[in-house]
Amino acid sequence: MERIYNFSAGPAALPEEVLAQARDEMLNWRGCGMSVMEMSHRGKDFTAIIEQAEADLRELLAVPANYKVLFLQGGATMQFAQVPINLLNGKSADYLVTGAWSKKAFKEAQKIGAARLAGSTESGNFTRLFHRGEIAIDPAAAYLHVCTNETVQGVEVLSDANLPGISDSIPLVADMSSHVLSRPVDVSRYGLIYAGAQKNIGPAGLTLVIVRDDLLGHAPAHTPTMLDYAVHAEHGSMLNTPPTYAIYVAGLVFQWLKRQGGLAAIEQIAIAKARLLYEAIDASSLYRNPVDVSCRSRMNVPFTLTRPGLDETFIAEAKKQGIAYIKGHKMVGGMRASIYNAMPLEGVKALVDFMAYFEKEYGR
Ligand SMILES: *Cc1c(COP(=O)(O)O)cnc(C)c1O
Repeated sequence: MERIYNFSAGPAALPEEVLAQARDEMLNWRGCGMSVMEMSHRGKDFTAIIEQAEADLRELLAVPANYKVLFLQGGATMQFAQVPINLLNGKSADYLVTGAWSKKAFKEAQKIGAARLAGSTESGNFTRLFHRGEIAIDPAAAYLHVCTNETVQGVEVLSDANLPGISDSIPLVADMSSHVLSRPVDVSRYGLIYAGAQKNIGPAGLTLVIVRDDLLGHAPAHTPTMLDYAVHAEHGSMLNTPPTYAIYVAGLVFQWLKRQGGLAAIEQIAIAKARLLYEAIDASSLYRNPVDVSCRSRMNVPFTLTRPGLDETFIAEAKKQGIAYIKGHKMVGGMRASIYNAMPLEGVKALVDFMAYFEKEYGR
């Protein structure tokens, strides 16, 4: 059987080259006589793997020296709690709610301590970002939390220049789970960046945190050791057994990204793929995307079918063409095409061709 075009939001497609390399190295990693899965995380082989992965990630994102890179577990969902535990420092934090994920992050923070809503686009059904003057940030906030790509609604902060303006004294904390590594970012504008790996980094089970040094060491004394960033940083992400195989595969993805020309090149490909799909949607009378064009996600493209009752047929027919996991999130309905870094342009072309065929057959 041929491989499908996997449009799942996550766990998501991985580059075929990476999977082939992992296969080739599966039984005997570089002559060491065993799989990466079987290695001691404290041995010299795995130490080389994790150090290379961190170095490649730092190079890709140009992570400044005063930031720690942490390879953690628990997913982005764990970060919804771990961020306030570590950064609140007895203060209150501000949250911008722009979709399902930032709403969850805000709710979780309220369980941990003082969290305040600095702005929400929910009344507009999360189809746009903020206009100037709509956000009211507490000047004493411990941090401002944003989700820079809302995976469910398909709303993205497309450039660092579109970030909300905040004072230098308020660190910006960003959930980048579903678009990290899809474009260059100016890491120095953020206090902390986090991302679950299973969308645009690698296998599930790994969570990436990039955090500025001065934000470490403020967790309350009763914080469980596993939740304290400072302890993980001190131990080089080796406080306990890290998700070794996921880190290894993520490292292969980082090397693949470097071979593609790095994040500036990857961004151009992402722009081309997204443009192709949005143009097809906008030119048709069957498909519709409700998101404001200034913030349409390049990674997650939700669309609905304007003719009722066709969704199941669309999904079944798509599957016959090798187009899989295209069903939308139940919150917004319809379809969602997640087109992360690993989705080739040919995959998006196949989808667009199928959509045109389907509209001709069923759309009127
Ligand atoms: C998927 C996702 C999450 C949740 O990730 P887990 O790793 O499953 O906890 C959080 N935020 C965003 C933006 C996501 O896309």
